[in-house]
Amino acid sequence: MTSGQNKSDAGLKLLLKTMIALLLLLGIAILLFMYSRSDDKQFMGILIDRVDTDRKVVALTFDDGPQPEYTQELLGILEAHKIKATFYLVGKNVERHFDETTAIINAGHEIGNHSWSHPRMVFKSQKFIAEEIESTDKVIRAAGQLGEIYFRPPFGTNSLHCHII
Ligand SMILES: [Zn+2]
Repeated sequence: MTSGQNKSDAGLKLLLKTMIALLLLLGIAILLFMYSRSDDKQFMGILIDRVDTDRKVVALTFDDGPQPEYTQELLGILEAHKIKATFYLVGKNVERHFDETTAIINAGHEIGNHSWSHPRMVFKSQKFIAEEIESTDKVIRAAGQLGEIYFRPPFGTNSLHCHII
């Protein structure tokens, strides 16, 4: 065997190992992406998708508000039917429509956190996600929400760094 053949064999082995490593990484990336898109699985935190009860009840929730064109009418409908709901609000909308937020709280409904700007949370940094959640919590508290503030990730997705509060 010549030294040229040895170099050629070594080059082929390196190429093969590199291709196998790239295929493995691609496979892992596809699995992580599919897992992150799942509605019933997440990497961290507790996902609350049901509560044990003997009563026949449903949890009514509204996302992405408050939106002045719908919120007052919706509050009227809920009051007429004596229904309490949870509103998962977007922080920048709360800041923009503070009066609608306090109206929701004063009507006895629960407010949840739906991030500050409604981004996809997948593969975002821990710092980014913390800012999205904490700034929204802060403005929701300023509007008068007491007790725990639950978090619903935008688009139903979660990330490696996204904890449920
Ligand atoms: Zn949403």
